Order: sequence, then structure tokens, then C-alpha cells
Amino acid sequence: MEPHFGAPHPNANGSYKYRFACCPRLIPASMSSSSAQPEAVDLPEVENYVSHMLRTTKPRPAITWQNFVGELNWFNVIMLSAVPLMGLVGAYFTALRWETALFSVAYYFFTGLGITAGYHRLWAHRCYNAGIVLQYVLACAGAGAVQGSIKWWSRGHRSHHRYTDTKLDPYNATEGFWHSHIGWLMVKPRRKQGPADISDLTKSAVVRWQHRNFYALILIMGFVVPTLIPWLGWGDARGGYVYAGLLRLSFVHHSTFCVNSLAHWIGETPFDDKHTPKDHVITAFATIGEGYHNFHHQFPMDYRNAIKWYQYDPTKWFIWVCQKLGLASHLKTFSDNEIRKGQLTMQLKHLHKTQESLAWPAASEDLPVVTWEAYQSEAAKRPLILVSGFIHDVTTFLDEHPGGRHLLVKFVGKDATAAFFGGVYEHSNAAHNLLAMKRVGILHGGIPHALDDRAVPPSQRLKIARYTELGSSSAYSDGEAGLI
Ligand SMILES: [Zn+2]
Ligand SMILES: [Zn+2]
Repeated sequence: MEPHFGAPHPNANGSYKYRFACCPRLIPASMSSSSAQPEAVDLPEVENYVSHMLRTTKPRPAITWQNFVGELNWFNVIMLSAVPLMGLVGAYFTALRWETALFSVAYYFFTGLGITAGYHRLWAHRCYNAGIVLQYVLACAGAGAVQGSIKWWSRGHRSHHRYTDTKLDPYNATEGFWHSHIGWLMVKPRRKQGPADISDLTKSAVVRWQHRNFYALILIMGFVVPTLIPWLGWGDARGGYVYAGLLRLSFVHHSTFCVNSLAHWIGETPFDDKHTPKDHVITAFATIGEGYHNFHHQFPMDYRNAIKWYQYDPTKWFIWVCQKLGLASHLKTFSDNEIRKGQLTMQLKHLHKTQESLAWPAASEDLPVVTWEAYQSEAAKRPLILVSGFIHDVTTFLDEHPGGRHLLVKFVGKDATAAFFGGVYEHSNAAHNLLAMKRVGILHGGIPHALDDRAVPPSQRLKIARYTELGSSSAYSDGEAGLI
């Protein structure tokens, strides 16, 4: 029997052992008969684990017309197409009452929060501690979203974070939007997902309870409760089943799927751009606040996705309210200093890109160093002016000089440093920047100290340099200084 997402199985002495599975299912389709230990998470010591695994393991064969029957995950294919289809057909024949509509939205948020605040931020990332009552509520709510057990879901999600954008990531976004959205669920995994430690989850009584009773829980929370409440409340069992059951479930499914697809596809990367996760308000609205995914992948143990008060993150608000009610505690946040450092790095990166797109004055080391005599003889042939030790060719600027041609001509072959910096007129930063573009040489012995403001045009005083472009720093010297 093929492995599945981790249903418990009794061993010889009747007790239960748990194993995660490599075949993702929204709900289990079969019970495993083999007894296995939890997967070892000690990795071989290799230079790069991902490339090592790709080299040493084989993927499943490519899906073709000949093999697709055996390669599709039929249980998920049917679940993910039958539920929305039945919901749409049902909606066509069932009038929507306002009470049912309101309840469906509320139940969408309830079961959605089971995934976002429960499965994701509590269990997969341990962003906060939840009291036992909240744990059971979230475990039931999450079961109502029919996305596998906490254990199966969190195991895959930890792999996703650990191996983001690689073939060991179960919903690798680099394989395309639809693959990361729903495609990965529709087919048998092409490779075994990367290892992740879930020993903390296997110790949790609530996680084990939910795993053990998962079939019953998805039936009760996914379909019975959303039918029962509208039936008992306002006599609309059929509407409840169709709208709060089937259609609501499809919405919750695609809401979660958007975290794997949309959140890795549209938006900004204000904290890091090494991988695909992005921040976008549309994703946030589609996913109950999981849309600030660039932040989340950088700071996964932070209970927030959105760090600004006006950004849409109801999951964060929910956890915060739970804390106020005494249901949750130890809400984790990353150091603001480190968060801002990430933001600054990205801002510098963008500025560096702009910097690279602009033309800059010739570097001092690229300019010829000439004597005063050579300067004089060259200035007799073309209009050269000396400012701050740099010789400038102002041929193209003579008629454009705002102060008039005569002022420039007056200083040809002379040192105009004092005149440029206030003797005649205190030039603007723009004028200094422009002047530097006209550098053609350096006067031997005439350049002021390299860090003199007059030698460095304003636009270059805060120029961004890669660390490889920096000179040796005292921080790296072989001094005797001790550690701080
Ligand atoms: Zn992600
Ligand atoms: Zn996550």
C-alpha cells in the first residue's frame, strides 16, 4: 500500500506509531500497514544538500499520456474538482439566504484561521504558545479546511521553508504558478520532499489526537457543522451544506493555495530577493493576512506577517486578541534592528542599481597625471581649467555656462578652485557634479587630499560600494585586539 500523509497505524503491541508520508493528500485515502520510525533528520555532510540529493536520487518519470493514470493523485483530483463543482451546481439550484451568506463568510474565516493561525503560525512555525483550549479549537477549525492533518501539513511546510525554490520544496514556485498553486497536489510527488524535523509535533497530544481522528473531524467540521448550524439556526440545512460547506471549502482551499502560488509570484521583495516569496496586499486579502510572504520567509518565527499597523493581517490580530484573552502567550517577534537591516539592504540594492545606470566621472586612477607645463601647453590648444587638482575640458560647456562664456575663458590654463568654490560664485552641487564629468587629467602634485569635499563631487560622497570594492579595513587587520 502506498505511503500516505501520515495516518497512524497500530504496531504489534497495539500502540500507535506515526510516520509522515511522501504522498500528499488533502485527506487520507488509505492506511499504511508498515511500521516505520519517524524520519531521521540528520543530514549527510555534503557541500550542498540539495544538489547532493538531486544527484543521488531519481525523480519519478515525467507525466505522459501513457502514464498519467498511475501518476495522478486521484483522491486529490476528485476532491479538488468535485467539491467546487457540486458547490456551483448546488448554488444554481439553492437560493442564498442572507443568514447563510453571513455564516458562510464567518465559517470561511473560522476554518481559514485554523490553517493560518493554527497549522501555519502555531504548529509549523511555533510563533506563539497556545493554551489547550485554543489548540483544540484551532485543530478542529483547521480540520474543517480539509487540508490534511496538522502533522502532514506542517511537515511539508517546514520542507518548503527549508528548501524554498528547489526540487526538494514540495510546492516549488520556480516550477510555475499552477504547479505551486494546485498542480503539486494533483500528481504524485516527483521527488521525496526535503527532510524536516517534526519531533515537537509528534509529541503534542493535540496534534496526535487530530491525526488519529482526522477522518471524523473533516466530516464533522468540513460538512456536518456548516450544515447543522444553518439548519438549527434558521432552517436552511441545504443552503448551509452548499454555501458554508462545499463552496466555503473551495474558497478556503484556494485561499491557502494562494500562499504557495500568488505569494511567490506577485509583489515586492522589501526584505530579501534571494528567493521567490513576495509581499502584496492582494495576496494578503486572499489569504487572511498571509500575503506579506517576503517578510514571512525571512522571519518565519515571527507571529506577524504584516509588520505595519495598517497592513491587512487578521491572523496576527486574531493571535494578539487571543493573547489578551489569556488563550495564547509568548508571541514571538524578530528584532526590529534585524528587520530594518534587511529592509536597508534591499533599499541599498535598489539604489545601487540606479547608481549603476548613471554615468560617473572618470576614476582618479584612470586619469593621466600631468605636469604644470604639460597642462599649460595643452590648454593652449583647447579650453582646459584646473579645479581641485583635476584638469577639466570645458569645450562643450563654454556656451552653456550659466555665468557666461567669458568667465570660463578667463580661467583657461589657470587654477579656478577658489573661484569655483565661492571666490567668484559658490557653485551648486549640480554644477560640481557636472564639472567632475569633464575631468581629463590630474595635475601632478596638485590634487588635494582624496577625501577633501572639493575633490569628491556631492553625488559621489555617499556612493554605494560593494564590499569587494572597499579597501582593506581595520576591522580585518591582524591586530592584537581581543573580541568585544
Ligand atoms: Zn512560501
Ligand atoms: Zn510559513
